[in-house]
Amino acid sequence: MADEKVIRVLDRGFVRLVDVMGDDRRIVQAARVSYGEGTRTVREDAALIDYLMRHRHTSPFEMVEFTFHVKAPIFVTRQWFRHRTASVNEISARYSVLKDEFYEPSPEDLRSQSELNKQVGEGELPAGEAARAAAILAEGEREAYARYQELLKLGVAREQARSVLPVGIYTEFYWKQDLHNLLHFLKLRLDYHAQAEIRAYARAVAEFVRTRVPQVWASFEEHVLNARTLSASERAVLARLVDRDSYARALAEAGLSKSRVREALEKVFDEA
Ligand SMILES: Cc1cc2nc3c(=O)[nH]c(=O)nc-3n(C[C@H](O)[C@H](O)[C@H](O)COP(=O)(O)OP(=O)(O)OC[C@H]3O[C@@H](n4cnc5c(N)ncnc54)[C@H](O)[C@@H]3O)c2cc1C
Repeated sequence: MADEKVIRVLDRGFVRLVDVMGDDRRIVQAARVSYGEGTRTVREDAALIDYLMRHRHTSPFEMVEFTFHVKAPIFVTRQWFRHRTASVNEISARYSVLKDEFYEPSPEDLRSQSELNKQVGEGELPAGEAARAAAILAEGEREAYARYQELLKLGVAREQARSVLPVGIYTEFYWKQDLHNLLHFLKLRLDYHAQAEIRAYARAVAEFVRTRVPQVWASFEEHVLNARTLSASERAVLARLVDRDSYARALAEAGLSKSRVREALEKVFDEA
């Protein structure tokens, strides 16, 4: 698939961009309905998008929609489909016989179980264990698929025979999502707390978003993806430790506009 709209993910998966409705300008046009004629130049458009992102004025971002065709293991789609605001259509394993295509991680891709976080795999397995584990996964998948074929030969309905298949088998789906909820998906699934396999898919989706709506992406990186929220306790400690005026000066020296300096101060201090 030598196609600029396809990014390969894991051993047999991909994310393919099917369609995009709208771009950076669509968001600006939609926002102008509420803010009037206002902005004109590309710089002003970028500033408006940045303002919308900073102030969580999210509805203009819903005016842009992306449709993707994705091939991913079922354990990845279980996590992906928790994002309820998208429209999804997936291969029917009642209608079609599923292909003999499983996620087969290489020994280097296998992670050891974290002792601190029960939900997380981290760190490398010793080489011997990793090689044996990769072989067990591959054998288990081959064995399960042979049983699936046996059940189909016996005349068992596809909708029941599939229950013998493990969650490493690949499935395919179309996924249509508006940009606001797509960015929410990316914030959660690009995060290092998300499972490495879905993160790989999120990076592919992000690459399409970055190139199709570059101004939105820049603001998203600045104000959402790489930003963090302070709790009330953290804020109180910082307010005690930080000298307000030195902080304001440093922010201005870092190139932040007057309004952004004010907003930054409000995050730490109770500005009247
Ligand atoms: C690292 C990580 C670990 C996770 N672990 C688990 C786990 O162990 N078990 C588990 O079950 N899930 C788990 N999840 C899934 C998680 O709880 C969410 O279901 C998933 O991330 C979707 O988030 P969302 O509801 O914000 O997104 P979406 O479903 O896309 O919704 C977007 C937003 O729309 C609004 N919304 C949508 N539907 C409703 C509704 N019915 N009612 C009210 N508001 C709504 C909410 O504001 C929501 O934030 C995990 C997710 C992550 C990222």
